[in-house]
Amino acid sequence: MITINSEVLGKAVSTGRLIGKVEGNHEGPTLVLLGGMHGNEPFGVFAISEILNHLEGLKGQLHGKVYGFAGNLKALESRQRYVDEDLNRLWRDDVLKGLDHEKWPEARWNNELHQLVELRQELNQVLDEAKGPSYFIDLHTTSASGGPFMFMTHTPANLKYSEYFPVPAIVGIDKYIKGALLSLVSKRGYVSLAFEGGQHEDPASFDLMRDFSWLSLAATGCLTPELIPNLRERFNRLKTESALPGLVFDMLYRHPVIPEDQFEMRSGFESFQRIAKGDWLANDRNGRIKAEFNGHLFMPLYQKQGEDGFFLIGEMATANSPLDLETSSSEAPS
Ligand SMILES: [Zn+2]
Repeated sequence: MITINSEVLGKAVSTGRLIGKVEGNHEGPTLVLLGGMHGNEPFGVFAISEILNHLEGLKGQLHGKVYGFAGNLKALESRQRYVDEDLNRLWRDDVLKGLDHEKWPEARWNNELHQLVELRQELNQVLDEAKGPSYFIDLHTTSASGGPFMFMTHTPANLKYSEYFPVPAIVGIDKYIKGALLSLVSKRGYVSLAFEGGQHEDPASFDLMRDFSWLSLAATGCLTPELIPNLRERFNRLKTESALPGLVFDMLYRHPVIPEDQFEMRSGFESFQRIAKGDWLANDRNGRIKAEFNGHLFMPLYQKQGEDGFFLIGEMATANSPLDLETSSSEAPS
């Protein structure tokens, strides 16, 4: 067990790998919520813990099972993104095969490899035992500003599921980011996405994580929408805080970074900001880094650890939430 304190939230939470589990009285889907894959992003653990406590009182109406897991326990304890390497880049065949054949030398067994083994075992068990459809939601925060968004691989099931939320969606993460857990879960055929709530220590990010998680209970069918506390308010907050709600983007470019580059993003950039070809975005030891084409900037790096300097994304489609359609019909003149 670890205890995480949050000064901004004025709360503390104690958790093991399993934050909690609530089993409904009715058969139904399996929803897995994960928080703290990165140790400097503890809000997800707080949000999941709070929602699972609420759900205890709704067991009678709950369909299926809801699980909450904590990602990188040791990094959460020390409040850093990771201890030795990024846990959310390790869910790759080459790493996993090494584990399965016990071929990794002792020196390779750093903190994150241990975290991966434990988490994988728990997730496999939950997904293998699931009777109905399964959904995996990975809760994160970012160093950059720019509002909430969803991250996923480009599958029809993910696109369909993400329509429910009035938040921009980025597909094609697997083209540039290898070894993210959400890609592996997608590959196994489940709906799987990451929700990025906003900036790390901004209490508004915590609210948005709770909103997204509550809406997920309706989107999966674990609860009927009427049972979600303040559903409309949560939906509206997600929509208001989103830079470009309902837009689906494709990932077009990733600027990779290694420490020797001395990469430094120029100040003042935000995710989803429109960028024109030639815009001066960052500096490194080789000089100025400029945008190679028009698009939107995405996830500029404003923290020390990280291998992605920034991304460029392009508009691909628009999505309409069924909840949005309800609003417009109820607002129509009678
Ligand atoms: Zn993260």
